[in-house]
Amino acid sequence: MYGLIGKILRVNLTEGKITEEEIPEELVRKYLGGRGLASRYLFNEVKPGVDPLAPENKLIFMSGLLTGTQYPSASRYSVVAKSPLTGLWGQASSGGYWGVDLKKSGFDGIIFEGISQTPVYLVIDNGKAELRDAQELWGKNVFETTEILKEKLGKKFNIACIGQAGERLVKYASIMNDKHRAAGRCGFGAVMGSKNLKAIGVSGTEEIKIADEEGFKNLSEKLFNLLDESILRFGMGEFGTNMVLDMVNIVGGFPTRNWQTGVCPFVDEINGTALKDKLSPSPKGCFACPVKCGRMSEIRQGPYAGQKGEGPEYESVGTFGGMCYVDNLEAITYAHFLCNDYGLDTISCGSTIAFTMECFEKGILTKEDYDGFEINFGDAEKMVNLVHKIAKREGIGDLLAEGTKRMAEKLGQGSERFAMQVKGLELPAYDSRAAKITGLAFATANRGGCHIDAYVQGATFIQVPYTLIEDSQIEDVHKENPKEAKVVKDLQDVFADVDSLGICKFMCLALRAEDLSESIAQITGLQFSVEDLRKTGERIYNLERAFNIREGLTRAHDTLPKRLLEEPLPEGIAEGQVNNLKILLDPYYEFRSWDKITGKPTPEKLKELGLEDVIEQIYASE
Ligand code: SF4
Repeated sequence: MYGLIGKILRVNLTEGKITEEEIPEELVRKYLGGRGLASRYLFNEVKPGVDPLAPENKLIFMSGLLTGTQYPSASRYSVVAKSPLTGLWGQASSGGYWGVDLKKSGFDGIIFEGISQTPVYLVIDNGKAELRDAQELWGKNVFETTEILKEKLGKKFNIACIGQAGERLVKYASIMNDKHRAAGRCGFGAVMGSKNLKAIGVSGTEEIKIADEEGFKNLSEKLFNLLDESILRFGMGEFGTNMVLDMVNIVGGFPTRNWQTGVCPFVDEINGTALKDKLSPSPKGCFACPVKCGRMSEIRQGPYAGQKGEGPEYESVGTFGGMCYVDNLEAITYAHFLCNDYGLDTISCGSTIAFTMECFEKGILTKEDYDGFEINFGDAEKMVNLVHKIAKREGIGDLLAEGTKRMAEKLGQGSERFAMQVKGLELPAYDSRAAKITGLAFATANRGGCHIDAYVQGATFIQVPYTLIEDSQIEDVHKENPKEAKVVKDLQDVFADVDSLGICKFMCLALRAEDLSESIAQITGLQFSVEDLRKTGERIYNLERAFNIREGLTRAHDTLPKRLLEEPLPEGIAEGQVNNLKILLDPYYEFRSWDKITGKPTPEKLKELGLEDVIEQIYASE
C-alpha cells in the first residue's frame, strides 16, 4: 500500500491479546487515514449507548496518510473514541514526532479494546508488539513516565502516555506525546486511564512507499519553501501561537472574566512580546515543520522560577490569562506546564476554573461549600493550586474534574448560561460575538466547542486570506448572511481531510486545496481531484455526525451558551453584538443537506457520499 503501511494493531486489553489486521484499500480511498479512517472503525465497532469509560469503548490511534513523509508538517496522528466529556464522537490530534514513529514501527494505527486488570503499557519495536506491566509507573506524571520508559526501553523509543489526571479519570484528561505535545481535547486521557493503559512506546525503521516519488518530493520542497518564506513563519516562528492575542483583543473578542467582556486591559503583560521578554523562549518544531510555532520556555522570576517546559500556547494564555483574569504570565505558564505534566487539556482546565471563579463571584459557590475554599478572578496562586486539585480530584477539584457542563447541571441557579461549552466541550479563547461566523462553527462542530473543526477564526480574528476556500467566498467570512454558512461547511469538510492526512492546520493558512489533492494523488497513485478532496471531507464529516445522531444528538444540540446568544458584548469595537444562530443555522443545514428538524443527514446525501450502510443505522427507529 502507498502512503500508509497498510496494517493496524488490535490490542484486546481484557484478554491481553494482540493481533494484526490489514487495512482494506477501499477504506483508504474513502477515508485517507488519521481521523477519517479511525472514525470509520469507531462507527463500525462502538455501538450506540456505550459508556465512554467502559470496556466496550475503543481507543483508536491512527497516523495520517502523509504522516512521516517530507510533506510540510506531516507529523500528526489522531486519537478517536467516544468522548467521556461529551458522550459523543471525539477526536484529538497531536504533532511532535510520536505519530511518525508509530508509522515507522510498522503500523498505521492501534485499536485498544477492553480493560486490563492491572496497569500495562504497550511496546512496539519494528513490527513486534508486547504488553508489559506498568504498576511501577502508575501514579507518576507524564515527564517522569517518559523518562523512565526511555531509560528502560532505549532513547530510540518515543512515548505517548497519561499522567495522574488520566488515571483519575478527569473528564478532560489528555494523552501526551514527546513529553509536551498533547492530544488534548475530548478527555481521551481518561479513556486510556479507564483501560489501565499507561503508555505506548514506539520505535522502528519501516519505510513509507510513495507512488510518484519524484513528483511528491518536488511538491513537498516547493511547499516547504513557500511556507518557510510566509508570514506564518515570521509571525509564529517569532512569537509562537500567542502572536494572535493582540489581534483577537483588538477586535473585542478575547474572552475576559469568563467571557463577561471581550476586551482585556492587561494584554501587554501576557501577549507574544511579553512572552518573548519574560520567558526567553527558543523555537521548537514538530517533524518536517517549516514554521516551528512551539517554544521551550523557562520561568525566570517569582515563586515558579526555574520551571522549564514547552509553551505556553495562545489557548493556555487565553484560558488561564484572559478568562481567569490573571495578568501574571509566570503563573499562567506554570499552570500550562502543570497541565502538560498531569496530562490535562489546558482549554477545558482553564475554562472550568474561570467558570468556578464566576460561580464564586455570583454566590453560586460559597466558602462554606468546600472547607473554606474560595477563588476570585485574578487570583493567580489559587488558580495554580486548583490545577493540582483537579488532577488529583482533591476537594473542590473533584467537582471541577467533571467539566463545566456537568458542574452547571449540579450547581444549577442559572449557572448554565455562563458555562462556556458546546455539547460539553469547553470553548476556546475566541469570543464568537465579535466574529459571528465563528459561532456557527462552534455550534455545529462534531466534537463540541471546537475552534479548529472549521478553523474559521483564521480568516475572521486573524484576518488571514484563506486559500482553502474559493475566492468568491472570502468576503462572506466577514458578513453575517446566509452565504457565510457555506464557508463553515466547506472548511469543516476540508479540515476533516487535513486531520486525515496528518498535517498541521496552521499550514492551511497558506496551502491551497490543490496542494492537498495533488499530494494525495502522488502518494497513492490514485486520481484525486479537488472535488474528490471536498467529497472525502464531507463523507468523513457526515459519518461523524451520524455517530452523534445514533447517540441521540438533534438540532437542539447545535447551539451556543446563552451568554453568547443573549448578553451583548459590553465594550470594544464589537460592543452590543450577540450571536444570532437563527440567521445561519437553516442555510447551513441546507448546504449540508441535513434535515432542518431532526438534524440528520438526509438519505440522499448519505447515498451520494457512499454511506449507504449508515442510512439504516440512523433511520432504524422510524
Ligand atoms: S506549526 Fe507548530 S504545531 Fe504546526 S507542525 Fe509546526 S511546530 Fe507543530
